[in-house]
Amino acid sequence: MTQETLQELLVEQLRDIYDAEKQLVKALPKLAKAAENEDLVEALREHTSVTEGQVGRLEQVFGIVGAPAKGKACKGMKGLLEEGNETVQQEDKGEMRDLAIIAAAQKVEHYEMSAYGTIRTLAEQLDLSDAVELLQQTEEEEKEADSRLTDVAVSIYESAMDEDEEDEDEEEEEEEEEDQPAPTATTKSKGSAGGKTRTAR
Ligand code: FE
Ligand code: ZN
Ligand code: FE
Repeated sequence: MTQETLQELLVEQLRDIYDAEKQLVKALPKLAKAAENEDLVEALREHTSVTEGQVGRLEQVFGIVGAPAKGKACKGMKGLLEEGNETVQQEDKGEMRDLAIIAAAQKVEHYEMSAYGTIRTLAEQLDLSDAVELLQQTEEEEKEADSRLTDVAVSIYESAMDEDEEDEDEEEEEEEEEDQPAPTATTKSKGSAGGKTRTAR
């Protein structure tokens, strides 16, 4: 194995992730539009501009390696985005769709993290320290995006749980009211639709 073959491998990998990032610059705003949760919308929008920066950084890396900045269709990213869109479109706008968007976006971030990890290691082997630094910056940004998505997911889960608990509390209260001998029984209308009786407050 020569330095040259390693360098060729590096360029191949760069072309793949370069195309993947460009796909994302187009896809992320669409996901942001489909999202409802404000933190999620904000995270996706912000990561769009971060991604634009990553494209620029890759162009710098191409420069360091001495190869033209040229992408090669990344089928992996294409597949992740297609599958993600499919799941997202199955849900109406709201919590469930937001969670589907997060699931898709996190798969994307993990794909990128693995790609950058591999490329950074290759660049280290080739003593391209400036490239290593650039690649590391992007890798950090991907990790940050991933953990931010986890935070949003947790906040959605927690608010959903809270709502469930409130519903349960209300149900319990209603049951208690029904158990009590109702003092307003005489004024209650009988046979109301749904059979639910309300005590006057
Ligand atoms: Fe990226
Ligand atoms: Zn790829
Ligand atoms: Fe990313």
